[in-house]
Amino acid sequence: MSFTLHGLPVSSGIAIGHAHLVSHTSLEVSHYIVPQELVQNEVARLNAALDKTRAELTSLHEIKPQYAAAEFDAFIDLHLMILQDEHISQAAREMILEEHCNAEWALKVQMDDLVMQFEAFEDSYLRERKTDVVQVVERILKTMGGQAGHTPPSITHDLQPIMVAHDVSPADLIQLKPQQFSGILTDLGGATSHTSIVARGLNKPCVVGLHHARELIKDNDLLIVDGAQGVVIVNPDTHILAEYKLRQSQLDLERQKLKRLKTARANTLDGTKIELHANIELPSDLIDVRENGASGIGLFRSEFLFLNRDTLPDEEEQFQAYRAVAEGMEGLPVTIRTFDLGADKQLNGAKRVASNPALGLRAIRLCLAEPQLFKTQLRALLRATVYGNVKILIPMLSGAAEINQTINFIEAAKIGLDIDGLAYNKDVQIGGMIEIPAAAISLHAFIKKLDFLSIGTNDLIQYTLAIDRTDDEVSHLYDPMHPAILHLLSHVISTANKAEIPVSVCGEMAGELSYTRLLLGLGLRQFSMHPAQLLAIKQRVLTTSLPEIATLTQRMLRASDPMKIQDLLHKLNA
Ligand code: PEP
Ligand code: MG
Repeated sequence: MSFTLHGLPVSSGIAIGHAHLVSHTSLEVSHYIVPQELVQNEVARLNAALDKTRAELTSLHEIKPQYAAAEFDAFIDLHLMILQDEHISQAAREMILEEHCNAEWALKVQMDDLVMQFEAFEDSYLRERKTDVVQVVERILKTMGGQAGHTPPSITHDLQPIMVAHDVSPADLIQLKPQQFSGILTDLGGATSHTSIVARGLNKPCVVGLHHARELIKDNDLLIVDGAQGVVIVNPDTHILAEYKLRQSQLDLERQKLKRLKTARANTLDGTKIELHANIELPSDLIDVRENGASGIGLFRSEFLFLNRDTLPDEEEQFQAYRAVAEGMEGLPVTIRTFDLGADKQLNGAKRVASNPALGLRAIRLCLAEPQLFKTQLRALLRATVYGNVKILIPMLSGAAEINQTINFIEAAKIGLDIDGLAYNKDVQIGGMIEIPAAAISLHAFIKKLDFLSIGTNDLIQYTLAIDRTDDEVSHLYDPMHPAILHLLSHVISTANKAEIPVSVCGEMAGELSYTRLLLGLGLRQFSMHPAQLLAIKQRVLTTSLPEIATLTQRMLRASDPMKIQDLLHKLNA
């Protein structure tokens, strides 16, 4: 049966392929039948994974990170207890023997069963322990990751599979080797959640907020994903399929044509120079950065180095990663943001889940609360400044007190390096992200104390409009064209320009074609976006005349009616 689903467009392009359903545990769990003669092997595979996980957990006692809270040991013991619980291990073994299913599936079924039992507890502490059950099973599944049983179901078609998940964390999306997938679909998530940002960076068509895709779509259903429209067509008829195949090849052709702009300067029609930088998550993203001719890295989200692992990267490992990016950019600016962990990017084993994580101990707040962790990163960052044009960017600053504290930390890290005889650029530039309304409103403190600013529109919109960027239920209220957002953007850009302090936008708005002219009209001269969008934005810059868009931009700032604003935006882009 053919049907269509509508969700939030996240990453454009058209993908055609067969559905591959992934489990809600955020890890990929296939279900298949094991041949009779291999059933004992499957049990052995499960046993080996349980042993390995037990050894890993036990070793965590010894290599406990310095920042770990006092209850870390108790937390590891609890996980060891769950691992040994017969509801997980013994029941999974029995299921493999009785049903001849693969080990991952047996674990998942037992986990779901146990989670349901925990959910029934009245005691809220016990109820919450279901999270620990899920974490333990995820750990076992990850241990099985590289082995035969974890490969996606054997799809015999030449089309690459399309991932269909209820939800997936940014950390898991990076880890799920997404190159196997030609598209990504999720039931939950907002268009500027970090999962969506990672999906966009992977340059695969992606639609989120589909609500029931995981239930309605069956493994191996044929899917068309229209990432630009947020539409998914399940089991299309031959006419629709042919039409989308044609559109897909047209899009490929357009992409090829854009490649010609790779080395062109990004100047407007009136000759104003615009900097187009790239956002990256990992050093390996540099390949895309170069392919798309970015004139620098405007945002390296360094926290991705900290995800998907049980121990933290030490100073040397971080230094090597930052150095690789600095050297790889050969003297072009490389802006590395200190880690923005918390909210939807949690460390493995992070125990405390705040009731309002986006308003909790996130980004610079977490850094200042965990000095050892912050100091290690600052030393690594400072050491990397010798190998290129490295700048340091601080996320989620709210005001002067945090800026002062951060600068003191940086100065202390410099003194430490001096004592150790390690080199760094003494004049390294320090910038601040403007992503909390308080920061935008009290901008003078930022201008006085920092070398540059970068506007994080994803969070600025989230915090100004009080909309959780990860929640698809309120995503229709996430409106970059809200007059309050336009005024904050205009205020920050024009104040920074007057003070002659560099300002860029590194949130998703910078990579949205429909906002390029508006941002140029507001005075923005530096954009940073996911590399895949860079050439299309360059083309828009090349066809824009700043004098021509000035009046319309000012009219947009004066308008308050949403329809009027949309109408003016449309004219601006005509
Ligand atoms: C932003 O908030 O706009 C931003 C660039 O940071 P992140 O998306 O990583 O929160
Ligand atoms: Mg942000």
